[in-house]
Amino acid sequence: MGTSAAPDSSRFRVLVVEDDDVIGHHLETGLRGNGYSTAWRRTGAAALTEATRATPYDALLLDLGLPDMDGLDVARNLRGRFRDLLIVVLTARTDDIDIIAGLDAGADDYLVKPFSLTVLLARLRAHLRRRTLTAPAQRQPIPLGDLVIDPAARRCHLHGVEVPLRPKEFELLALLARHADEAVSRETLMAEVWDENWFGSTKTLDVTMAALRRRLAEAAETAPGPSRLPRITTLRGHGYRLER
Ligand code: CA
Repeated sequence: MGTSAAPDSSRFRVLVVEDDDVIGHHLETGLRGNGYSTAWRRTGAAALTEATRATPYDALLLDLGLPDMDGLDVARNLRGRFRDLLIVVLTARTDDIDIIAGLDAGADDYLVKPFSLTVLLARLRAHLRRRTLTAPAQRQPIPLGDLVIDPAARRCHLHGVEVPLRPKEFELLALLARHADEAVSRETLMAEVWDENWFGSTKTLDVTMAALRRRLAEAAETAPGPSRLPRITTLRGHGYRLER
């Protein structure tokens, strides 16, 4: 990680949702200047309309304080419809609870204002690179008991029924599965699943792990028969281990 070539940004479409003229203009020109195809909308309603056009967006930069609706509702709405959309929340709210709410609403990442364009671009590159460059050796389906993880399709099935996972939940599970029965440190997980330059709270990892466990448990409950699921053990002070 960190040394691979930057992805060709001209292939990526980024929708900026921001009611502040200065920030919105700054983001739009900054993204365009770096080769991204970009549109800027000032309200939640306009963003929802734009995001559901024929050509899908790759990423959404989403201000939480919008004039017509809560940005969290925009995130929830679009996450429900576009599983692979990268959602980065832009927030002036520094309380952990708001950041957790954003991640729970389906955001993949967040930036606290004021943030630098350089940091934003680095995060975008890291996210989009992971999305496009998955080594062929890492693309084979991984069977874990009655659970099958398919990295190529970015899907996970239990007894043939798809387990609905958000992008980061899937990446976390896939990474642990590739290292099944090994201890994986929190630092490795943060670096591989989020950003090699991560300097924010690792609460993101805890929230995503809790959601992943919840979704697997729910899938097991609704499965037609008894299910053999891998166990994800918390290693205090270190990280996690997925056990077959
Ligand atoms: Ca705002």
